[in-house]
Amino acid sequence: LPEFQLIQTYFSRQPVHRADVDIGIGDDAALVSPAEDMQLAVAADVLNEGVHFPAGTDARAIGHKALAVNLSDMAAMGAEPSWFTLTLSMPGEDKDWLEGFCQGLYELASRYNVQLIGGDTVSGPLSIGIQVCGYVPRGTALMRNGARVGDNVFVTGTLGDAAAGLALHDQKLCMDDSSASLLLNRLEFPEPRVEAGMILRDCATAAIDISDGLVADLGHICEMSGCGATIDAERVPASESFTRFVEAGGDRRLQLSFGDDYELCFTSELDEVELNQRLDDAGCTVTCIGTITGSSGIRLTDHNGKEVGFDETGFEHFGNRTT
Ligand code: ADP
Ligand code: MG
Repeated sequence: LPEFQLIQTYFSRQPVHRADVDIGIGDDAALVSPAEDMQLAVAADVLNEGVHFPAGTDARAIGHKALAVNLSDMAAMGAEPSWFTLTLSMPGEDKDWLEGFCQGLYELASRYNVQLIGGDTVSGPLSIGIQVCGYVPRGTALMRNGARVGDNVFVTGTLGDAAAGLALHDQKLCMDDSSASLLLNRLEFPEPRVEAGMILRDCATAAIDISDGLVADLGHICEMSGCGATIDAERVPASESFTRFVEAGGDRRLQLSFGDDYELCFTSELDEVELNQRLDDAGCTVTCIGTITGSSGIRLTDHNGKEVGFDETGFEHFGNRTT
């Protein structure tokens, strides 16, 4: 298939058509007319085979995840995603692979009304680069530097599922089929918290998406806000499947050290009840896991406030309680 035809077949027929796109795929560059009074949030993320996903991962999952990780950056800024470009490097022209990839990509793009407006297609090792843009009303973006001493620290959803999914993929553990498939699904099809991010514009003082692990990513908020945090490690929310994973011998510390769940971590003056009311329409719950302090660094405690040790790979001396 000539490159032109490949682009025609798989990319020119992308499913989203927005009024703020004047020219999409087909010319030397796309033309867009951004809405007035808005700032544009711009982010890019690359997924490489063997680095960001194991070789042999389902093409549909790759298409989904390549866009999902970028939408997650929009969510962390409180931005409403609008357009994206795709730079695709692949070793050959595998029709089945491309169809699966586009299916995963376009299903998510349609759901968030985000339009593919251009890109580049080259041959080489499998690598998927996406750059995404989104709108945020001027001055309302969620940034990493706004946390203040006394704020509560929250996470959306549950943490650890993607890590457990990867451990299962690597066949490090045996579990019942339904839990295993739920966990694998969280690894391969992460749900970006876009609606939550937009609602949090009015409630959060700082936010980040958890791609590198809770402690590392909350660490970024603390550094940029010039503060520290105390986290009750036992309050970090876990799914039922993750609890099963721990019961089967899985490492609970993965909840703190492993990213890839693409949940949001944020700080707010509001409490958990109030936030859950405001986030009712976003389809996720939030859990308060600690507070922002005046010291530097992150201090982890158990339920009784007793400090638990911590190293690069996670926290130490910590039992298997999962509630
Ligand atoms: P050029 O040589 O001007 O870069 P290309 O042949 O690379 O043109 O691309 C032709 C058109 O197809 C451009 O509008 C480009 O943005 C688009 N395009 C190419 N590859 C992709 C892709 N993977 N996804 C989306 N659009 C693409
Ligand atoms: Mg090109």
